[in-house]
Amino acid sequence: MSEKCNGNCSECSSDCAEREIQKEKPHKLSKIKKVYGIVSGKGGVGKSLITSLLSVGMSRKGKKVGIMDADITGPSIPKAFGLIDKAEGTEEGILPVSSETGIKIMSVNLLLDDVTSPVVWRGPVIAGVIKQFWQEVIWGELDIMFIDMPPGTSDVPLTVFQTVPLDGIIIVTSPQELVSMIVTKAVKMAEMMKIPIVGIVENMSYFKSDDGKIHMIFGESRLEEFAGDNKLNIIGRIPIDPKIAEACDKGNMERYNGEVINDISDNFLKLIQK
Ligand code: ADP
Repeated sequence: MSEKCNGNCSECSSDCAEREIQKEKPHKLSKIKKVYGIVSGKGGVGKSLITSLLSVGMSRKGKKVGIMDADITGPSIPKAFGLIDKAEGTEEGILPVSSETGIKIMSVNLLLDDVTSPVVWRGPVIAGVIKQFWQEVIWGELDIMFIDMPPGTSDVPLTVFQTVPLDGIIIVTSPQELVSMIVTKAVKMAEMMKIPIVGIVENMSYFKSDDGKIHMIFGESRLEEFAGDNKLNIIGRIPIDPKIAEACDKGNMERYNGEVINDISDNFLKLIQK
């Protein structure tokens, strides 16, 4: 215990034995069976894309799925699902917006009038919004909630780890990121927070040309070696695919039919049912 302990762990970063992380309860009208965070070492590696692909995949398997877009300063989930409607509030709480196929979504972009305005809030404010997304949104019944986590290892992802009772995380990386230490930091953060890592997805892994040839644009993948060194399961490899980018950027994620959706969803299901 730290000498100056006042019993409030949320004000202290000491990693003492007595530290008890108080996870918050969701809204009383929410019944969420499992929660998984999608994590990356930095932005732009495809975290939102993998969140969307897994959500669509699990929804196609008949699961009731929700997505909490906790990437407050770079929210891209509403756009990937082509959502235009704003979230509405009732006296009881905030209602998520349902996508075309019934995936429930909450994002800061569903609350702001002008989605092009940058969110220039400081860490504690952002952390407060994420807490509200967990406690004040009426998610209803969900089999699985995916949280598109804020990138990196700052205080904001830390708040999510401390607030939401995560059943596990999925780490998204790119071939270039694997050679840096950024992704190792994300792995270590999850280990320090004692959150199980379901597995790792390598995005932009390769490019398949029309003649069926595989091109390793960023050189040979180090995924197997990295997964082996860190004792991680591999959930899948996603190619660079203009059709994925188009589906994501035009709001057609739910109409995308690439086989990668099935592959990563099947692997993910197997790993969480182990
Ligand atoms: P992050 O959430 O990590 O910041 P995004 O998922 O928003 O990253 O992806 C960033 C951009 O890269 C998006 O425009 C997306 O469409 C594109 N993108 C991501 N992965 C792929 C891929 N495998 N093939 C083609 N485009 C991709």
